[in-house]
Amino acid sequence: MKLPLPAKAVIAMAALIGAAVAHRAGELAALQGFGPIAYVVVLGALAAATWVWPLLIYRGAESEAVHLDEGFFVIMALLLPPAGTILAFAGATVVAQLVRRRPMVKSIFNFGQVLASVGMGIAAFDVVSPSGAPLTPRSLVAACIGALVFFLVNSCSLGLILTATGAMPFRKAIFDGVQIRLVLVAACVGTAVIAALALSAYTWAIALVGLPFLILRQVLAGHFRARHDRARMQGLFEATLDVNRSMGSLDVEGSLCQWANVLLRSQHASVVHDKPEDGGLAAPLGGSETPTWMVVSGRSKAEPFDSADHALLEALAAVGTGALANAALYGEVRRHQDHLATITSTLGEGVCAVDTNRRITFVNPAAQQMLGLDPAEAASITAGEPSKVRLDFLDGPVGVAMTSRTTVRVEDTTFRRLDGEPLAVAFTCSPIVQDGVATGAVLVFRDIAERKAFEERLAHHAFHDALTGLPNRRVFLDRLENALGRARRSDQTHAVLFADVDRFKVVNDGVGHLGGDHLLIAIAERLSAAVRPGDTVARFGGDEFTVLLEDIGGPEEVARAAARLLATLDEPILLPSGHEVVATLSMGVAMTSADQISADDVLHNADVAMYQAKAKGLGRYELFDPSAMGARSIERIELEVALRHALENDEIEVHYQPVFTTESKSIVGTEALVRWRHPRKGLVSPGDFIGLAEETGLILSLGKLVLESACRQTKAWTDEFGRPLTVAVNLSARQFGQPDLSVQVSDVLAATGLAPSALCLEITESVAVQDMERTIGMLHELKRLGVRLAIDDFGTGYSSLNYLKQFPVDVVKLDRGFVAGLETSTVDAAIIAAVVGLSSAIGISIVAEGVETQSQFDTLAGLGCEFVQGYLLAKPEPADDFRDRLAASRAPSLVMLAG
Ligand code: C2E
Ligand code: CA
Ligand code: CA
Repeated sequence: MKLPLPAKAVIAMAALIGAAVAHRAGELAALQGFGPIAYVVVLGALAAATWVWPLLIYRGAESEAVHLDEGFFVIMALLLPPAGTILAFAGATVVAQLVRRRPMVKSIFNFGQVLASVGMGIAAFDVVSPSGAPLTPRSLVAACIGALVFFLVNSCSLGLILTATGAMPFRKAIFDGVQIRLVLVAACVGTAVIAALALSAYTWAIALVGLPFLILRQVLAGHFRARHDRARMQGLFEATLDVNRSMGSLDVEGSLCQWANVLLRSQHASVVHDKPEDGGLAAPLGGSETPTWMVVSGRSKAEPFDSADHALLEALAAVGTGALANAALYGEVRRHQDHLATITSTLGEGVCAVDTNRRITFVNPAAQQMLGLDPAEAASITAGEPSKVRLDFLDGPVGVAMTSRTTVRVEDTTFRRLDGEPLAVAFTCSPIVQDGVATGAVLVFRDIAERKAFEERLAHHAFHDALTGLPNRRVFLDRLENALGRARRSDQTHAVLFADVDRFKVVNDGVGHLGGDHLLIAIAERLSAAVRPGDTVARFGGDEFTVLLEDIGGPEEVARAAARLLATLDEPILLPSGHEVVATLSMGVAMTSADQISADDVLHNADVAMYQAKAKGLGRYELFDPSAMGARSIERIELEVALRHALENDEIEVHYQPVFTTESKSIVGTEALVRWRHPRKGLVSPGDFIGLAEETGLILSLGKLVLESACRQTKAWTDEFGRPLTVAVNLSARQFGQPDLSVQVSDVLAATGLAPSALCLEITESVAVQDMERTIGMLHELKRLGVRLAIDDFGTGYSSLNYLKQFPVDVVKLDRGFVAGLETSTVDAAIIAAVVGLSSAIGISIVAEGVETQSQFDTLAGLGCEFVQGYLLAKPEPADDFRDRLAASRAPSLVMLAG
């Protein structure tokens, strides 16, 4: 053991003094002897016994071992010479040290300490009673004083060594429990005086001298044990209170261990999961799922754990078990509470509770905000303080809920906020019932201002177009019906204008959907601004607008209004993208009349007039003329509408029919033929819709679409197969009539990358001869682009060989009818022979169309016709099939259509 220097000094001093006392004892023994040896032995043995078997006393949480050695000192001081006393104590020390197997250093210190105390005690005795006369009152007093000195020196040296080793401060070592120790010293000194008197009368009483001390010791031990037990009970009680209090902080185990250490004066207390083997005291602890144990250890060796300690620990563990179970329950409750608080605090609904006086007892943040409750007030309510705020407007529902014990539900009402503002709410009010008595109510409410606004918006949506904000079709029809009703009663005339944005799809594709939307909005605004307040401008659908002009004068006034509406679009419209777009409308106008017809009829008339306007060119209006337009069949109009949709919905496709050489039957070109893939009717032939498209002007968009896709497709095939291929595209009369046709064609060629010489444009003979001069001019213009030109359906009309010379054409296509007549009509054969002859003379190739039989083929070949097209060799087929045919056909032919 490493000892600090002061401790070594104290031990050294004790050893020195002990040695000095022993030396003096030796001198005195020579003079006076040791006294009766039986006394020395018995009293020494008793002193040793009180050291080996000390009396434990308890002060609060501490225990202390006390010895009754002052008593034996008094007897020896009175009945033995000093050397005898010293010898008895020295012997007792040696025996006690041996029995307790104390380490050497401690033994040396104890030896010195005891001899010093004995020496000083005897010295004090001698000073008070120098005569040495035995058992006079004076000597008794001297013995008592000697015992006090013995006690003081003993205590001081103990204090010194404790201070020097740093175990405790000197004051504490001396003064803690000094009262009890003095009382004990007095008790055993008193017992000793009586024992000494008895011995002086009867020397044999030495045999019984231990008895009073034994009795004293047992009485004292019982007394202290009782005190100790009481202290333990009290401690257990306090521990119970404290441990249960600690549930709030949820550290029940910590508090238990603390108390275990206090009550059992141990150093380590812990809660473990495995039952400890040994080395401490353990008691099972319930209250948790896995078995646990409370273990205490580290108590001084002088005071091993006994059954009372075990009982105490078990009692504490029982307290802990209860507390842990409660803590778990408490934790659960608190989690529930927190959970509820989180829910209500994040709830969008206002939740608040009121007592019987309608005073708020609970409020969540949403309710606080909606009611306009002061945050400080809300915080104090949350903290559980009584609220001063009364919600008067709740008198009714709370009263009903509490008396009827049912939930009151109100979908749409108004609360009054604390600042007086109204608040639109839906709420439920449920009673709070405790032990059968209604103590208040819980109110859950929701701000419905937004919902009401939404409902209004919905209503608006039902009647208005979301994009432009204009009344929708429904509203328009409604107003039209109303106007018609009034017209019947009052002879008023109204006008319906049906307007369609020209080429809206093209604009939309060009500027994007956002731009298109913007365009529609701008048109809506301009139209709305140009009508009288009572009139209605509606969005009828897509790019269609309808206008109802009520109580309008006559056709002139309507015409003026229509012109004014069209003129509103003269100014370009600036789109957000920066583009400027000039939009035009085609407008049909229909008027109501006295003998009137339904709203549907008026609209239909305006619609028909609108198509008429479109057919006549864009950006204009047309008045419905019953004599001219009424005759048009409904089917036709429907077909027209459907074709419009077809163009917008990609229902138009292009098929290809190969053109072969008669010589080797190899493919040199193809003709692009339009098809309409109708969602219901399936594939529709051009014969069923080209006429109508031509009539309505739809042919322009249709023709452009075919031209583009044929060029793109042919370019792709040319690239893929590395062979020249000519594609023939049909042009209708109206297409051919466009002044900017050549610009359009060259744009398409540039965009698709197709070589101009690979494109052959076909116009029918009938178109070509309508205006010869213009035709020749336009053909030359096209020729300059480098494209080929063909006269289609040759032989159907004029069949004039004359004009062929005037037109700069490369190909003449012999009409199917001609070819069909080959075998029956000798005239036809003769004409073909002439045409072939003439053509080859002026460098024009002949393509015979509609070749259906081998004999037709043979005849044509015999007549010198170079190229044929017809069902005999191939029908028109979808692009993919034609591609496969190209892939499978023989090596590229060098033969090209002449030109
Ligand atoms: P077309 O320009 O004379 O085209 C030849 C027509 O004869 C095609 O009819 C073709 O399928 C058909 N045909 C070809 N070989 C035979 C045969 O051996 N026997 C019979 N009975 N018929 C044969 P389709 O495709 O129905 O086209 C009809 C017409 O529609 C075309 O006559 C053309 O004038 C017009 N057309 C077709 N596509 C377009 C186009 O994209 N634009 C314009 N403007 N007109 C087109
Ligand atoms: Ca053709
Ligand atoms: Ca033809």
